[in-house]
Amino acid sequence: MIWPSTADVVIAGGGVMGLSTAYHLLKKSPGLRVVVLEKGPFFGCGSTSKAAGGFRHQFATEVNIRLSLLSVEMMERFSEDPGAPLAMHFCGYLFLLTRKEDVAAFRAQVALQRRLGVPTEWLDGEEIRRRLPMMRLEDVIAGTFCPRDGLLSPMDLVNGYASGARRLGGHLFTDTPVTGVRTRGGRIEAVLTPAGEIATPILVNAAGAWAASIGRMVGVELPIIPYRRQYLVTTPIPEIPPDFPMVIDFAQSLYFHREGEGILTGMSNRAEPPGFNEQLDPEWELVHMEAAIARMPLLERAGVRARVVGLYEVTPDAHPILGRVPAVEGFYVVAGFSGHGVMHGPIAGLLMAEEILDGQAHTLDIAPLRWERFALAGRSAEYNVI
Ligand SMILES: Cc1cc2nc3c(=O)[nH]c(=O)nc-3n(C[C@H](O)[C@H](O)[C@H](O)COP(=O)(O)OP(=O)(O)OC[C@H]3O[C@@H](n4cnc5c(N)ncnc54)[C@H](O)[C@@H]3O)c2cc1C
Repeated sequence: MIWPSTADVVIAGGGVMGLSTAYHLLKKSPGLRVVVLEKGPFFGCGSTSKAAGGFRHQFATEVNIRLSLLSVEMMERFSEDPGAPLAMHFCGYLFLLTRKEDVAAFRAQVALQRRLGVPTEWLDGEEIRRRLPMMRLEDVIAGTFCPRDGLLSPMDLVNGYASGARRLGGHLFTDTPVTGVRTRGGRIEAVLTPAGEIATPILVNAAGAWAASIGRMVGVELPIIPYRRQYLVTTPIPEIPPDFPMVIDFAQSLYFHREGEGILTGMSNRAEPPGFNEQLDPEWELVHMEAAIARMPLLERAGVRARVVGLYEVTPDAHPILGRVPAVEGFYVVAGFSGHGVMHGPIAGLLMAEEILDGQAHTLDIAPLRWERFALAGRSAEYNVI
């Protein structure tokens, strides 16, 4: 592809956020010169391809619930817009609660979710044990289930938005890192790469766990911190029914869902130090699998089919940073989705396109997600981080 020496918008990062933003920009404004620069060898090679594939409405804050409602609707129409296949399975998320304080917090969340139109059900311990006979759940006090939650293929989103953006004239490059940004008089002027520079008035930072480094290139501090997360997928376990939900032992940050005919299980190490290490942590795998087998003894008989390690991109309140950054004219951020971003990729890209082309995102009020909030006190944090 011919190198574009000028563009209307350059997007740094070719994960779900960068590609959804590119597609929605081009759909809203055909003919716009949009360039996506991905440093890795394929689109989605950062966190997006590592994601466990869950989507849920069961969040603690109104803005996250609204992002899910809008995004899931968009995903259900994916075969028309952008016009590509997307594997989705509405198997539900079932949260297991074992601590009294979580029961109280989840009661309030369910009320909020229901007020916003999410059909989350409250389950008592007996009902949960009845639904999941293959699990050991004696200590579970209560739980929640939402049948509108489920599983999707993250790379279908990437491929759908990439081919949609290309079809609409976008210029998409892999193996092309953004290495610097030139500003003049407080405005974006050009993006620098080893392949050459691109003059542009607008730079969108969609670099996921690496977004802070792009921020530093323009002198903007972005509180987005990388944390290693890992999971494994087992060989087939015939006892797991096809409608097995995503099960989350909230207190342990331990999760299970059906993947092929096996189980995908992960557990977040809350003592993990920040950093870009993407090597498997075998000691943590032992801790994780001991907890996983205690919950689901069937796992003891299964083999390991795959192991995946990737990075969460975590902000101080576990909400993304979305929208323009007023400190530098032409600088926009769509990053920091704190380990649950794939599911919000569709709506985040649309909101970014509105922010850039219409002056302000309007499908949803993104005030709680703007970068400026970190200067303000009293923001509300997401409780349901897994
Ligand atoms: C183990 C694990 C499980 C997860 N499970 C789920 C889940 O079940 N559901 C869910 O919704 N989310 C999940 N997530 C979170 C989800 O993967 C992320 O929130 C989402 O992928 C973020 O998308 P992104 O486009 O911002 O980031 P990325 O996909 O990481 O894309 C950013 C891209 O920017 C590129 N880049 C970085 N620096 C530069 C540069 N200088 N120049 C050019 N390109 C650059 C990177 O190579 C990368 O490809 C999980 C994450 C992990 C690690």
